[in-house]
Amino acid sequence: MSNSYEIIDHVHDVIVVGAGGAGLRATLGMTAAGLDTACITKVFPTRSHTVAAQGGIGAALGNMQDDSWQWHMYDTVKGADWLGDQDAIEYMCREAVPAVHELEHFGVPFSRTEEGKIYQRPFGGHMRDFGEAPVERACAAADRTGHAILHTLYQQCMKHNAEFFIEYFAIDLIMDSEGACRGVMAWNLADGTMHRFLAHQTVMATGGYGRSYFSCTSAHTCTGDGNGMVLRAGLPMEDMEFVQFHPTGIYGSGCLITEGARGEGGYLTNSEGEAFMERYAPSAKDLASRDVVSRSMTVEIREKRGVGVDGDHIFLHLEHLGAEVLSQRLPGITETAKIFSGVDATKDPIPVLPTVHYNMGGIPTNYHGEVLRPTSSNPDAVCPGLMAIGEAACVSVHGANRLGTNSLLDIVVFGRAAALRAVEIVDKNKAVKAADPKTGEIAIERFDKLRHANGSQKTADVRIGMQRIMQNNAAVFRTSEVLKEGVELIDKSAENLKDLSVSDQSLIWNSDLVETLELENLMACAKATMYSAEARHESRGAHAHEDYPDRDDKNWMKHTLAWVDEKWNVKLDYRPVHEYTLTDEVEYITPRARVY
Ligand SMILES: Cc1cc2nc3c(=O)[nH]c(=O)nc-3n(C[C@H](O)[C@H](O)[C@H](O)COP(=O)(O)OP(=O)(O)OC[C@H]3O[C@@H](n4cnc5c(N)ncnc54)[C@H](O)[C@@H]3O)c2cc1C
Repeated sequence: MSNSYEIIDHVHDVIVVGAGGAGLRATLGMTAAGLDTACITKVFPTRSHTVAAQGGIGAALGNMQDDSWQWHMYDTVKGADWLGDQDAIEYMCREAVPAVHELEHFGVPFSRTEEGKIYQRPFGGHMRDFGEAPVERACAAADRTGHAILHTLYQQCMKHNAEFFIEYFAIDLIMDSEGACRGVMAWNLADGTMHRFLAHQTVMATGGYGRSYFSCTSAHTCTGDGNGMVLRAGLPMEDMEFVQFHPTGIYGSGCLITEGARGEGGYLTNSEGEAFMERYAPSAKDLASRDVVSRSMTVEIREKRGVGVDGDHIFLHLEHLGAEVLSQRLPGITETAKIFSGVDATKDPIPVLPTVHYNMGGIPTNYHGEVLRPTSSNPDAVCPGLMAIGEAACVSVHGANRLGTNSLLDIVVFGRAAALRAVEIVDKNKAVKAADPKTGEIAIERFDKLRHANGSQKTADVRIGMQRIMQNNAAVFRTSEVLKEGVELIDKSAENLKDLSVSDQSLIWNSDLVETLELENLMACAKATMYSAEARHESRGAHAHEDYPDRDDKNWMKHTLAWVDEKWNVKLDYRPVHEYTLTDEVEYITPRARVY
């Protein structure tokens, strides 16, 4: 069968799949250090979802007032509801300060203070003095921080002549008989050719899977492709039950209004005009952590204090900030509010609703970006040849809930860490093992089968069915009954994949086939998410279980691992949380109640 496809071979030291912030930072570091690196991406690099990040990147620079990376670490551990690995969190928060200065030197056009320093704004859950009062820590380029970072990283990659394969769709990993990763198979969307990329290391930087839900802030390209590929390679996902809902998606469209809007002084009200966050989080108020604000809004709506004709959303007020602050600090979201809700934010409140925004879970890695293949004797064992970074990965620095600004930070810190590690472990003088004709055959067989699928279900119909199940059964609040039903429904939904019909067999710009490949990846993520959520009998961070309303450190302070096999069966297991720091400079932060 594979004979009917023309296969073009490529050999590199390293392959990076994905050209968002994580993939570009890794590509830059590897190329600059002299590794022969290929970066494969299904969309043009500067169209990756990172471009949409608005509010800022977190680092304790202390430009506005005193700050320290130890406070940042404390906030991140607390934000994560103690499910984060503290060695990795220490690494990220400590590296944050040089990482942002490095971005500045690369040329990121940050907003400035009067004295010319990088401008910083408050963000949810970021506090001073170990949780005492909000601190200004989010380094911002107006409300277009991701855009500024992504374009700068791409320019730096150009400067170092990094090699890109643009509009190539990675289909599956190439694994050898010992379980090591050898590379990846990819389809060139423009001319229909098949490509076999072999390398010493393959890095998954493919972003999140927001599109497994009906309403989300992420781009249509956020389909968990890397997660799907890794699951098909027989490796697990970690902590997939933790899906972040952002408090302020625009009602109806899901477009994001950055938390930076509340950082600049915006606040939420209910139908009684009450600024209700004062009741739920007396000290942090509207700047409490995202899971806390999203739950509070949901409770207000449930208790019939929502706004609008149907009482089904909440108002975000920015009008008191004045037109000048809005045009200087929040120009992008002022425009977004106008286009997507018809509201002039200088005069009226914006209608908002909690909307799926970020995946804390993903491919388990250590803080070097190496993918874990946990065994019963070694939960931290590494899969040779495979790395993962960015939203696709679970390091885990975000644990059960990510703090705003910590993802842009995650992608640059761990993109850089992966490059450092690759430079350390790749022996440039050793030849990459050559391919035999069978190498990559399994990937092509699956591709070919989907391409010729002639069942009775349309990809778009199966996808919307899956998205509605996720939206209804794995939402802000969960119960045993709703999750049990969710498992049954998602199983049925996945059954439909056997009966798909792909209307077009062309190998050139075939969007139906692309969306079908993406649907398989989304479904694998959806199944892992629903099963992991159903099994976790506690409430922690973004996982709010009404039948188990408390956090249960005795039984549940552990990472979930979920495998999805080729028959779509899910298996779960657990690995311990790292309850230690990286160095002796900081102490392990012991679990305590999480109040804001
Ligand atoms: C609207 C919005 C605003 C945000 N604002 C902030 C913020 O202010 N601060 C913050 O810290 N975080 C923010 N986040 C989160 C943060 O932006 C993301 O988590 C982060 O940018 C993800 O980066 P990434 O490099 O991992 O993935 P992405 O930027 O999503 O890039 C994924 C890459 O993988 C490639 N790819 C995927 N599948 C394939 C495949 N099969 N074959 C080939 N290539 C593939 C894509 O082409 C793309 O290049 C925001 C997120 C959203 C959605």
